[in-house]
Amino acid sequence: MAKQTMGFSSQALQFRTDNKLYHLQTPQSPIVRTAAYSKYCMDEFPTGTNAIVAVLAYTGYDMEDAMILNKSSVERGLFHGHIYQVETFDLVEQRKFDQAFKLFGRSNIDKSKNDLIDSDGLPYVGQMINPGEPFISVHNTITNTTKPTTLKGSEPAIVDYVSIDGTTSKDFMQKVNVRFRRRRNPVIGDKFSSRHGQKGVCSQLWPDIDMPFSAATGMRPDLIINPHAFPSRMTIGMLLESIAAKGGSLHGKFMDATPFANSIKDADGRSTTDSESLVDELGPMLTSYGFNYHGLEVMYSGVLGTELACEIFIGPVYYQRLRHMVSDKFQVRSTGTVDPVTRQPIKGRKAGGGIRFGEMERDSVLAHGAAYLLHDRLHTCSDYHIADVCSLCGSILATSFIQHQKRATRHIGGLPPGRAPKKVICHACKTSKGMETVAMPFIFRQLAVELAAMNVKMTLQLSDQA
Ligand SMILES: [Zn+2]
Repeated sequence: MAKQTMGFSSQALQFRTDNKLYHLQTPQSPIVRTAAYSKYCMDEFPTGTNAIVAVLAYTGYDMEDAMILNKSSVERGLFHGHIYQVETFDLVEQRKFDQAFKLFGRSNIDKSKNDLIDSDGLPYVGQMINPGEPFISVHNTITNTTKPTTLKGSEPAIVDYVSIDGTTSKDFMQKVNVRFRRRRNPVIGDKFSSRHGQKGVCSQLWPDIDMPFSAATGMRPDLIINPHAFPSRMTIGMLLESIAAKGGSLHGKFMDATPFANSIKDADGRSTTDSESLVDELGPMLTSYGFNYHGLEVMYSGVLGTELACEIFIGPVYYQRLRHMVSDKFQVRSTGTVDPVTRQPIKGRKAGGGIRFGEMERDSVLAHGAAYLLHDRLHTCSDYHIADVCSLCGSILATSFIQHQKRATRHIGGLPPGRAPKKVICHACKTSKGMETVAMPFIFRQLAVELAAMNVKMTLQLSDQA
C-alpha cells in the first residue's frame, strides 16, 4: 500500500519537475515503527498520520469498508494534500512541424489576458488559473501571430514554479517547464488505509460536535471504522498497533514493532524483551495511566449525550491517504456527445461519455421485470430514432424527404412564411402512400445499411398490434 500512498516523497520538491507527483501536506512520524523504519530514515519521507481511530458502528455510514472522518480534523489539516504536475513547452520541438521560428511572448494588441500572462509570455508564479483560461502564449515570427495555451481539465490549478530549460544567455528562450499545483483536500469518496491493508473510503465528513467522545479524556476520534472489517480479514496487527500507539503516546515514546523481535534470545536463552507476551507488555502501559487494559473506553454519543451501550476500542493508528481520489474517477452524464455512426452515447470519462449498459446489466434489469426501465436506458436515452418505413415494400432505406417547391406564404400582418409540411416518398414504390413512422434504435437502421452494403435486403412487416 505504501506505493499508493500520498506521501512526502521528496525533500527537494521545489526543484523537481516530475510529470505527476502526489504530496501529503501534513505528514507525521508513526508512533509504532519497526527497526528497518529507523534504519532507513523513513522519517525523512513519512507517508501518513497518527489518526485517533474508534472501532465502532456509528450512524451506518461506516458500513462496508467506509469510514467516517472527523470534519474538524480535516479542516485542521488532516490528510491535506497536493498534486504537482508539470507541462513542458518546447518550441524547438514545435518548429519541426511547421518550420516557423517561435518565441514566448504575449500579444501587444489583445491586452485582455495580461492579468494571467506576463510580458515574457509565461504565467505569473502563484497565479490561480481556472480551466479554459490561458496561462502561456507563444509568438510565431513567420505569421506574426500570438497563440495562447489554455488550461485543460476541470479543476483550477496554481502556477507553482516556472523553469527555463537548457538555454544559455546568447540563445533565445525555447523550452519552458510550468509546474502546476492542485489542491486535493479530503472529500467524500477519497481512499484511506492503515498499514495493515484495512483500506476504506470516506463516506462522510462528520461534524466534530456530533462525534462520540471519551468519558475519561473527552477525546473525539479522527476516524471511525466498522468492527466488521476485522473478523474475516484477521488483521490483529492493527488492534495491537492501536494499543501500542496508545501506550506509546501516554509514555511519550516510540514503540518497536519489529517482527519476530520477541524471538531474539540472548546468550542465556532468555528473551531480550521484558515479557514473552506482547499483550502483557502493552496492557500495563495503559493501566499505569488509568486506562483500560484492553484499550477500551467508555464513550458518549455526540448527538444525544448519552453513554454508549458498550465500551469502545479507541486508539491511534497510523493511517495513510491513498492516491485514488473521486475527483479523478467520478463519471456522470445526462446528455452529451454521441457517436456519429451509431448515434449512441460515446464512452470515456474525459470525453463526457456514458457508462456502458451491457449485456449483464440488461439481463439483470430483465430479471427484475423492469422492462420499461430497459426500454428507457437502451432506446429512449440512447439512440432513439424515428424512421420512415414504406409499408408497401417494407424498406427503411428507400425513403427520402421531398420538399414542396412552393412555400405557403402568409399575407396577413407580414408574418414569416409557415413551414411547408415535409413529405416522404419511397423511391422503390415511387409513391408516398404507404409511408409510416416507426420508432427504433438508430443502430437498427445502421444494421440495415450495412446489410445492404453486402447485398442483403432487409424488409419490415408493419402491423399495429402491440
Ligand atoms: Zn416502398
